[in-house]
Amino acid sequence: MPSLGTRTKVTRRLSFRLDAAYLIFFILLLALLGVAFRHVLVSVQETQIRELLEDHWGALNGYLRLRRGVPVWKYDPNNPEEEFIVERLRRVFLLTDAEGKVLEMSPNYRLLGPDSPAEIRMALLSRAPVWRVRQTSRGESYITRSGAFIGHDGRQYFASIGRALAVHKAIVWNFTWVYFAILPVLVLIHGLLGWYVTKRALRPLNDLVLASEAITSSNLNLRIPPRGAGDELDMLIDTFNRMIERLENSFQQMRQFTTDVSHELRTPITVVRGQLEVALMTAKTEEQLRDAILAALEETERLSAFVKAMLQLSQAESGQLLLRIEQQDLCLAAQEILDQFKIPAEEARLRLVAELPAQCMAGVDRLQFGRLLSNLLANSVKYTPPGGEVRLSVKPDGNRVDIVVEDTGRGIPPEYLPHIFERFYRAPSTDSSDMRGRGLGLSFVEWIVKAHHGKIDVRSSVGHGSRFVVTLPRSAARSSRLS
Ligand code: ADP
Repeated sequence: MPSLGTRTKVTRRLSFRLDAAYLIFFILLLALLGVAFRHVLVSVQETQIRELLEDHWGALNGYLRLRRGVPVWKYDPNNPEEEFIVERLRRVFLLTDAEGKVLEMSPNYRLLGPDSPAEIRMALLSRAPVWRVRQTSRGESYITRSGAFIGHDGRQYFASIGRALAVHKAIVWNFTWVYFAILPVLVLIHGLLGWYVTKRALRPLNDLVLASEAITSSNLNLRIPPRGAGDELDMLIDTFNRMIERLENSFQQMRQFTTDVSHELRTPITVVRGQLEVALMTAKTEEQLRDAILAALEETERLSAFVKAMLQLSQAESGQLLLRIEQQDLCLAAQEILDQFKIPAEEARLRLVAELPAQCMAGVDRLQFGRLLSNLLANSVKYTPPGGEVRLSVKPDGNRVDIVVEDTGRGIPPEYLPHIFERFYRAPSTDSSDMRGRGLGLSFVEWIVKAHHGKIDVRSSVGHGSRFVVTLPRSAARSSRLS
C-alpha cells in the first residue's frame, strides 16, 4: 500500500482534493458575493440619486417663477447657500412650454439634446415623474427626472433636471476593480492556509498508514497509539487496533492449533514406532510379533479416529459441515444413545439413569445430536468414579427443550471451567483417566449446539459432580451450517 507521504501522486492525495474542492467553492462564493455587493451598491446609489433629484424638484417649485412663458429664478443673491442651490438646479436643466418650445436649457443639457415634443407630451400627460438615463455624444451618462411644472401664471410647462452619473459609476468601477483584484490574493492565501490545515488534520492518517505498513504477522502485537482527540480519526485508529487484535487472536489460535495437532500426532506415532522397533528386535515367536502388530494397529486406529475428529471439527469451523435438520423424537434418539452406554457404564460400575418423557419432537440433525449426547455421556462415564451415577434427562419447555447430562463424578474446578470448550483443553488432574481424552469432545459439542442455535450451560462442583444443560429450540432452521 502506498504511503501518503511518499508514493501517492499529489493530485490524488486527499489533502489536495479537499483543498481544491474547498478552494473552488470559496472562489465561487467570493465571485457571487462580489456580484451581489456590486448590485447592492448600484441600487443604493440609484435610490440616493433619485431622492436627491426629488429634493431638487421640490426646490425648483420654490425658486422658479414663470410669468407668461418667462422663467425667473427667485433667490437672495446675498445668500450664498440659496445661490448655490439655484446654481446646482440649473446645471442640468431644461424648461419648455407645453408645445416643446425651449424656454431655458443649460449647456450640459444641450449635450444630451432637448426632449422630443412627443416625449414632452407623454411626460405632461403622466402624473408620475419620468426617469431616464441618457448619454451625451461624449459617452457621459446622466439621469434625468422630468415632469409637468405649473407656473405662477397657472400654465403647464415641462421641466427636466438631471445629474451626472460619472462619480457614481467611478465608485462602482473602483469597487469592482479593487474587489476582483484582491480576489486572487485572497484565493492564494486561502489555498495555502487550507493546504496547511488539511495536511495537519490528515497527518494522523499518514501515521496510520505507516503504522499499518509496519505491522506484519510477526509483530501483530503492535498497536497505533490513539491521539486522545476523540474524533473520527481516533475512531478509525480504535477500529483498526481492534481488527489487529482479532487478527492476532486468530494467528495465536492457528499457531496453538498447529502446535497441539503436531503434539497429538507425535505421541502415537512415537508409540507405534517404538512398538514395531521393539517387536523387530526382541520378538522371537510369531505370536509375539502378532501382539506387537495388533498393539500398533490399535494405536493407528486411535490416530485415525483423532484425525477424523480433527477433520470434522475443521469442517465445522469452516462452515462446510451441512446439517440436515429434521423433526426428530429426541427421547427416542436419547434412548438409543443411552443404550450404547449400558455396557461401558456397567464396566465402570456406574448407574445409568434416564428421565425421558414419552415423546419430545424437535428439529435437529439426527447424526450430530447423537454425537453431542455421546460426547457428554462419554465424559460423564469417564470422569465418574465407580459407584457413581450418570443421569440423562430430556425436558421439553414450550418451544425449547433442555437436554441435561449430569453425573456424580469428580467435577471441574471453577478456574478450569471457562476453558473446557477450547480445543485440546484438558483440565489438569492427577487422575490417570485424563490420558484417555484428547480435549476435542466438548469443542465439538459446543459447535453442534451453536449450529442448532442453542446454548450450553455447565455447573460443576469438585468432588460432587457436573451438570451440562443443552438448550435447543424445538423448531431450528431447516438446514444450517456449522460455522
Ligand atoms: P476430553 O476428551 O479430554 O474429555 P473434552 O473436550 O470432552 O475432552 O473435555 C475437556 C475437559 O473437560 C476434560 O479434559 C475434563 O477435564 C473436563 N470435563 C468434561 N466433562 C467432564 C465431566 N463430566 N466431569 C469432569 N470433568 C469433565
